[in-house]
Amino acid sequence: MKNKSIWQENIVKSKFPTLSVNIECDTLIIGGGITGFSCAYFLRNSKEKIVLVESNKIANGATSKSTGKLTYLQEDLITKIKDIYDDDTYLKYVESQKEAISLAKKIILENKIRCDLESVNSYIFSDNLIKSNVIKKTYKLLKNNSSVKLKRKLPIKTVCHKALEANDTFVFHPVKFVLGLSEIVKEKIDIYERTRVTKIDKQDNYFIAHTPSGNIKAKRIILALHYPFFINPFFFPFKTSIEKSFLVAGEVNRTRPFSAINVNKKVTSIRYYKSYKNYIILVSENGSLNSNIDNIKKQDNAIWNTRSNFTPEIDYCWSNYDIMTSDHLPFIGELEENLYIATGYNTWGMTNGIIAGKVISDLIQNHDSIYKDLFNPRRDEKNIPNIIKFNLMNGLSFVNTKLNKNRLFYRKNVKIIKENGIYYGIYIDENKNVHKVYNQCPHMKCNLSFNYQTNTWDCPCHGSRFDIDGNIIYGPSVENIKIKKEVK
Ligand SMILES: Cc1cc2nc3c(=O)[nH]c(=O)nc-3n(C[C@H](O)[C@H](O)[C@H](O)COP(=O)(O)OP(=O)(O)OC[C@H]3O[C@@H](n4cnc5c(N)ncnc54)[C@H](O)[C@@H]3O)c2cc1C
Repeated sequence: MKNKSIWQENIVKSKFPTLSVNIECDTLIIGGGITGFSCAYFLRNSKEKIVLVESNKIANGATSKSTGKLTYLQEDLITKIKDIYDDDTYLKYVESQKEAISLAKKIILENKIRCDLESVNSYIFSDNLIKSNVIKKTYKLLKNNSSVKLKRKLPIKTVCHKALEANDTFVFHPVKFVLGLSEIVKEKIDIYERTRVTKIDKQDNYFIAHTPSGNIKAKRIILALHYPFFINPFFFPFKTSIEKSFLVAGEVNRTRPFSAINVNKKVTSIRYYKSYKNYIILVSENGSLNSNIDNIKKQDNAIWNTRSNFTPEIDYCWSNYDIMTSDHLPFIGELEENLYIATGYNTWGMTNGIIAGKVISDLIQNHDSIYKDLFNPRRDEKNIPNIIKFNLMNGLSFVNTKLNKNRLFYRKNVKIIKENGIYYGIYIDENKNVHKVYNQCPHMKCNLSFNYQTNTWDCPCHGSRFDIDGNIIYGPSVENIKIKKEVK
């Protein structure tokens, strides 16, 4: 079994240079996932100079670890949005997701992007009686939509009390889609990989984005980086929480043309994928980032779920996380003058990433978008109880990282030690080399937990990830952790 996403297998990527000098542009896009490249796609024909920078390799972040479903049946999101807001708001949200699906289809067909786009019915379903109400409620809210039908069961044998089926939805290969976009835009847009923005300053009417190997002077910036690395002006960590889940891909006899997700707190999400083998992809073991730190246990549970219900042949296992907002709507739009953001997709970033590209390009080029108010990142918080819950959970996670130094699941090759009042994380590799790092994340000073699935030190509050020598792999941290390495 491979500890990597099925979408990262057998992929040939173009190589892009690392920034090595100071440059200037009109628009700087930070982040090379579905959001960044959707923005690049919709802006590609503008006469302005556009630059996209990615801290790692492109198409390697959350996008490459998703399930690649393009649907507007998104668990119980529609009912939750209706409960907080009103009919206009939930209907507009559904419209935005449907528009994203149409845009994806149009882009793929017009540009002949080979990303395994497949028309499949998508379902939401309840696997207990109580949650059947959510299905009925969602059906009522979507009753004017002729593509949606109430059903008793799913196309496969699994516990299902009620289901809702939509017949105008798709699945695709998310990495091939983003790489397809990069091939289209690369003639018109300068792309830099392994170029991490560590700081943004404002100077007169310009922004200066600092990277370790050159600065970028830009008239405007689009933050398409999943989790922003700065705290001001948005106070992002205080407005959001992070949900992490585990994904398994296993071989099956045949694929089925449907995708499904339940509406229970414990997620079960299913889709199929046909490449040189037939796969089922199953998502389970969801939870807040801090509750999901025993990665091996969660991985074992996810594998066990798949083995006992679907297939014994497991080929891939990986995890992914996404940013949850208190009112279940994403943050897409202008954060302050000429600074745009797109994030907070509540685990539905394939559709929201694409619509973000459209909305932001419309705001930049036409100064308006029909979704401007719906997604406004500066909107007033409408769900204060959720904000309080997020902050309590985030606060608890922070305190927990300070208290729980040596986790119960740590094996002999990993431990946290205290020397002169300072905590260090120790990892001993198979050659008995000792890798010792300061056990604190530079982002918001949370202590780090060891992740045996990836052999990394992870921040259980905000998701930063470091290798065993403290080098940053994934943000929001923009710095490495302090290194103290000894060899025995
Ligand atoms: C289990 C799971 C399954 C999911 N399945 C689906 C699905 O089926 N359908 C769906 O619609 N959504 C799904 N999602 C949600 C989806 O994965 C995300 O919402 C989406 O991928 C976010 O895309 P992005 O482009 O914003 O982020 P990313 O793909 O993470 O791209 C952001 C990029 O920014 C880069 N970056 C970060 N900081 C910096 C910096 N300082 N400088 C330069 N670059 C930087 C990162 O390296 C990264 O490559 C799922 C989520 C989870 C958790």
